[in-house]
Amino acid sequence: MTCPADSATGATDSGAGVITIAVDGPAGSGKSSVSREVARRLGYGFLDTGAAYRALAWHVLERADDTADVEEVLAAAQHFPYAISLDPDHYWVRVGDVDVTAVIREPRVTDAVSGVARVPEVRARLNEIFRGLVAASGRPGVVVEGRDITTVVAPDAPVRILLTAAPEVRAARRSAEMSGQDAAAVAAALHRRDAADIQVVDFLTAAEGVHVVDSTDLDFTQTVEGVLDVVRAATGAAA
Ligand code: C5P
Repeated sequence: MTCPADSATGATDSGAGVITIAVDGPAGSGKSSVSREVARRLGYGFLDTGAAYRALAWHVLERADDTADVEEVLAAAQHFPYAISLDPDHYWVRVGDVDVTAVIREPRVTDAVSGVARVPEVRARLNEIFRGLVAASGRPGVVVEGRDITTVVAPDAPVRILLTAAPEVRAARRSAEMSGQDAAAVAAALHRRDAADIQVVDFLTAAEGVHVVDSTDLDFTQTVEGVLDVVRAATGAAA
C-alpha cells in the first residue's frame, strides 16, 4: 500500500499534540454528518475512516478483483495510493489521480466494503494511515469517526463517544438520504452490512469509558449538541 506525500496523506509519526475525538457507531447513526459539524464548531479536522475501506473496495473492483478473495484484496492493498481531505468544509477522497468521493457511495461499493474490512492486515495498514493523518493534520484536534476508533485506532483519546440509534430509525434516515431507491431494499442492505461488520468489530456496545449518545429521539442539531456536551465536559472546549 502506498501513499503520495502531500499534506492530506498519512504519515507514520504519532498523533502527539493533536486532540482526538473518537466517534464510533453503526450505519445511519448520523456519525459522519454529526462528526463533521462537531469538527467545524471546534475548528478541528474531520476524518471519515469508512472512506478508506470504501476506497479500497472500489480499488479492488476497478482491478476486476474479488472483494471476497483475501489474496486479491491484499494484492490490491499493496498499491493503494490513498488520500483524503480532513477539512470539514472541503471533503474529497482520492485513489491516485482519481477523485472517488462520489463513486465510493455507490451501492456496488457499499455492498463490497465489508469483504475488504474483515481482512486483519488491511485493518492494521489503514489504522497506521489514520494515525498518520491525525498527526499531520495541522489542526489542534481531529474528530475521527468509524467503527473501531474508540477501541482500536485511538483507545487513549481524551473523548470517546458511541453514537447509536434504534435500527428502524437508522434505516429510515439512510433511505431518506438515498431518495429514489426502494426503502425496504435500503433497510435490508443496511442490516446486511451491520450483520457482516459486527463479526469484525462490536460497534453496538460501548467499551469502558466510552460515552453513549443515543440519537433515536434527537434531531441533527440536538445530536451535535449532545456530542459537544461530552467534548466540553471532557476537555473544557468552548464550542
Ligand atoms: O462508515 P461507513 O458506512 O462509510 O463505512 C463503510 C464500511 O467500512 C463499513 O461498513 C465497515 O465495513 C468499514 N469500516 C470499518 N471500520 C471503520 C470504518 C468503516 O470496518 N473504522
